[in-house]
Amino acid sequence: MPKLINNPLAAADELIEGLVEAYNGQCYLVGTRSIVKSGIPNGKVALLVGGGAGHEPIYHAMVGKNMADGAACGDIFAAPTPNIIAEATTAINRGNGVLFLYGNYAGDIMNFNLGAELAHASGIEVETVLIAEDVASAPPDRKDQRRGIAGLVPIVKIAGAASQSAGTLQELAAVTRKACLQTRSIGTAMAPGSIPATGKPTFTLEPNKVGLGMGIHGEKGVAEIDFMPADELTPMMLDLIVEDYEKDTDVEALKAGDEIIFFINSLGSTTMMECLICMRKAREYLDALGIEVFDVVIGPLVTCQEMAGISFSMTRVDDELKQLWSMPCESFCYSKMEGPLMSNSSWTPQVAKDSKKGSSTPTQQTQKLSPTVSLSKSDHGLSIEESRTMLLQVADAIITAEPILTDADRALGDGDHGIGMERGFTALKKQLGNTDFDSLQDLYQTAGSALLNTMGGASGVVFGSLFLAGGQTLSGASVLGPHEIAHLLDQALKDVMNRGGAKPGDKTMIDALAPAVDAAKANIGTPLRDAIAAIAKAADDGKIASCDMIATMGRAKTLGEKTLGLPDAGAISVSIILKTMAQHVTDNFSI
Ligand code: ADP
Ligand code: MG
Repeated sequence: MPKLINNPLAAADELIEGLVEAYNGQCYLVGTRSIVKSGIPNGKVALLVGGGAGHEPIYHAMVGKNMADGAACGDIFAAPTPNIIAEATTAINRGNGVLFLYGNYAGDIMNFNLGAELAHASGIEVETVLIAEDVASAPPDRKDQRRGIAGLVPIVKIAGAASQSAGTLQELAAVTRKACLQTRSIGTAMAPGSIPATGKPTFTLEPNKVGLGMGIHGEKGVAEIDFMPADELTPMMLDLIVEDYEKDTDVEALKAGDEIIFFINSLGSTTMMECLICMRKAREYLDALGIEVFDVVIGPLVTCQEMAGISFSMTRVDDELKQLWSMPCESFCYSKMEGPLMSNSSWTPQVAKDSKKGSSTPTQQTQKLSPTVSLSKSDHGLSIEESRTMLLQVADAIITAEPILTDADRALGDGDHGIGMERGFTALKKQLGNTDFDSLQDLYQTAGSALLNTMGGASGVVFGSLFLAGGQTLSGASVLGPHEIAHLLDQALKDVMNRGGAKPGDKTMIDALAPAVDAAKANIGTPLRDAIAAIAKAADDGKIASCDMIATMGRAKTLGEKTLGLPDAGAISVSIILKTMAQHVTDNFSI
């Protein structure tokens, strides 16, 4: 698909610049890549949304009147980095706290949690509500594992309205959770979008097949079915939503007389004509069940580039949600006039003040870094300067491996791991090349910050932590020897497991890192070149062993058994990092 862009790696930055122009003074750019509404009143409970770019007009174009106050924007298909989230949070905070509202994806959770830690440290109160309404992604008893798709639009609209008069952050969180609980979506994919930086499709589908329930990045759905006309596909999809309300013990089944907001979303290239043809059939279906459509939204609002596909979302509304829905709103993504219900009075919360009670929406607790471990020290090892040279060589190796990493992540994930790593290690190179370091800890933590602040996605936190948390253990170390490497890798593993929740066997980079830690501990007494060679071999063996694992974490988990036979992209990266370190030591040192 030809794309009218410039440098693909600058696409996210350039589209944000364009969006600010389109807002024509109503919103402005803050820091690296945050959109902030002009004129947020003092004392307002603020609403922050965010996620990866490439799905325009969400999320960053949802900032506006009676909508979100700010958006933290990641790179294409990658979660925003913690510093972007912190910049946005600081810019919209008006002293009454900030609600983080975003989709339930591992990368977003890890980055937003770190952003929340930074906000807490500067005295800003933060609550999180995750959007997780795709019924195809997990059954009702595991709703907390569902991904967030187009249902985010009515949820953010309702939260934006509520944020105008919410007295406290908890009140806003509570009504937003209620909207989440009453929202369900189902999607279908008919053709993939493509990643601007690689030109490659985000997934593949057999000809004449439809991916029923496929996610917006091509995550696995419920089935691949034969292509069929709109009048057959529409009821099949709606059945899945209606059944889900029935099966879910946290909500009542849909019944005659219930009122809903009904949203038909195009994933990008599915036309308005097709959406309207589906709307006609959907209305017939809903009428037959006696379900009343309170309001309708139709359009390409949650897209994945030129992906062909459609999703249906329903939000069941009671008087409170109807009042919030009826408030007029304006944003680049979605605007509406007042109504259907004319509301003279402003919203006052009707739900319990205890925001977590009775809610099935997943909430995330922020996690703290574990304390620095006490160290044993090596007599011999690399100096600061020698370590810097080694890290620069690692960066070159990762940058060169971009196509390999892209292909590996495309096979099992969303195809952005290669460009994310390339972006991060390019920044690392720049940072390490321009700075003087007076300690090993400073060197490694600077390297980690460079990754954390530029990569985004799950891997930004994961690989940032590798150096950042690992680097903490280098406090007071004068050389990087087998002891220091063992402490560094051990702490990095603990931190990655703590932040991401994955464990060995889940088919992530941990399956290369954990064996490397074991090898490092076993080789603490051996010369550096032998120790690092054993570490690199263990990581490589771990990477190979990841082929035999079924992914249970990260984006790959939705592919289940289809992940067998292929290595995890992050495990390949760990193996390349450690192999390059080993090669550098072998080539240059005899210690
Ligand atoms: P994203 O998953 O946000 O698209 P990337 O594609 O850059 O991020 O990175 C994917 C890699 O990140 C996976 O191959 C896996 O090794 C690693 N990863 C994902 N989630 C986790 C996690 N929870 N813990 C550890 N590693 C993870
Ligand atoms: Mg990825």
